Amino acid sequence: MKLILMGPPGAGKGTQARRVAESYGVPQLSTGDMLRAAVKAGTEVGQRAKAAMESGGLVTDDIVVGIIADRIGEADCGKGFILDGFPRTVAQAVALDAMLAERGLHIDHVIDIAADTEALVSRITGRSTCAKCGEGYHAVHKKPAVAGVCDKCGGNLTTRADDNEETVRNRLAVYHQQTAPVIDHYRNGGTFRTVDGMLPMDTVYTELCAILG
Ligand code: AMP
Repeated sequence: MKLILMGPPGAGKGTQARRVAESYGVPQLSTGDMLRAAVKAGTEVGQRAKAAMESGGLVTDDIVVGIIADRIGEADCGKGFILDGFPRTVAQAVALDAMLAERGLHIDHVIDIAADTEALVSRITGRSTCAKCGEGYHAVHKKPAVAGVCDKCGGNLTTRADDNEETVRNRLAVYHQQTAPVIDHYRNGGTFRTVDGMLPMDTVYTELCAILG
């Protein structure tokens, strides 16, 4: 199964990608997670990506296309993968088409998790994630039993540096300018579907599974 999960920041791509990855036994390839890991490790890619990520802008296409080209060649992607946060520009989508065609592969599903911009600002600014297991929480909608501690594994909850209101608004503007056109790239391909990201998380997940079969 090769799936692209699209949607604006905060629509729930990461959460849903993680659940689908667990259920279907394929890896979740999040360029955001990979870039954050590179920044933390201080690699050359991390150093090149840091400033754009802090401002809520996009990292250059050559960096993210390179990361994905390497990653999809790894053994665990043999059964498929879920792309989460990539492609984010039409140029990235074109590069993805080319790298898949070279390997005789194709994308089976492109699913857009659609959501309302204003709701996303409050969703994102309230969220936190377990540093250990990746479980997501929210200050209003999904509070942990003990503040700052993961219900599932007891790990510490962390907040992303770019989840502040100013950066979130920039990320949303960047999404509308540069990522929304990617939908048109896939819309007529026969594999494109939309789900309503404003529905409860479990409902969104059920709808995704219904599409994926
Ligand atoms: P995310 O975790 O998907 O919200 O990504 C966090 C940040 O990483 C974004 O705001 C961008 O700065 C950068 N990023 C992640 N994926 C991409 C991509 N496909 N193209 C360009 N920049 C990206």
